[in-house]
Amino acid sequence: MIRHLRSAADLDAADATLILDTAGEMASLTGGREVKKLPALRGRTVVNLFYEDSTRTRISFEAAAKRLSADVINFSAKGSSVSKGESLKDTALTLQAMGADAVVIRHPASGAPHRLAEWVDGSVVNAGDGTHEHPTQALLDAYTMRSRMGRLDGLRVAIVGDVLHSRVARSNVLLLTTLGAQVTLVGPPTLIPLDVAAALSEKTQVSYDLDAVVPDSDVVMMLRVQSERMQDSYFPSAREYSRRYGLDVARLRKMPEHAIVMHPGPMNRGMEIAPEVADSPRSTIVEQVANGVSVRMAVLYLLLGGK
Ligand code: ASP
Repeated sequence: MIRHLRSAADLDAADATLILDTAGEMASLTGGREVKKLPALRGRTVVNLFYEDSTRTRISFEAAAKRLSADVINFSAKGSSVSKGESLKDTALTLQAMGADAVVIRHPASGAPHRLAEWVDGSVVNAGDGTHEHPTQALLDAYTMRSRMGRLDGLRVAIVGDVLHSRVARSNVLLLTTLGAQVTLVGPPTLIPLDVAAALSEKTQVSYDLDAVVPDSDVVMMLRVQSERMQDSYFPSAREYSRRYGLDVARLRKMPEHAIVMHPGPMNRGMEIAPEVADSPRSTIVEQVANGVSVRMAVLYLLLGGK
């Protein structure tokens, strides 16, 4: 098993499958039990280093590490010496001195986890770096798809919306194509520049017509429109975006009966996804969050040497 998880590209099919299988075991070992703890990482230290806001990912990593009995240190940039201008390198050296076995990092700069891995001896896990990658999100998405649909190989997955700014899309393309799924990126041309799509993977298709893709998809994964990362205007108006690329009830009805709707959260309800769709039985959004804990348990366990 690899030492760091910086990118979904760090994983070949065997490692990715091992993580998904181990997550399944974690879920069956802890799910439904009153005491959800396993002793696997007793005495090990996991630091959560969050330089960017997060709800799900942060709580999920914390729950995962605690369920494995690790000692967890939560660090947030706000209220730390980062606001006094301390560099990532100096923060890394501090963590190193404290003997962190794993550092989970979220950072607004793409590539920050790669730098961090040069400065610490422990394992580095990327929990989202800028617009670059979010590999554990892709793993939990793949886990959710596999448990709902029974397979990933040959699965038709549409990833819809703001691909340009989405680390979730990037990691999903890399992981899903490694595992044999057929990925189609859908959105306005401004948010799926062809060079971006080509650089991601030559195995993906691109479409600008959501209505044409929906009937042939087993999974429709909606992406959040990341207004906070947009310097220019990429579409005429929110209404226009929603009309062309939002998943509403009419489009949901055109999906095959077995197909599922995913979203990594946080959602812009009424923009990329209608509230009725988000809350429908076809939506796996809450399940994705639950699966995230088992998947992150598997990642921490395997990176830290579990077998
Ligand atoms: N929560 C995901 C991320 O951190 C997706 C999003 O923010 O839209 O990338």
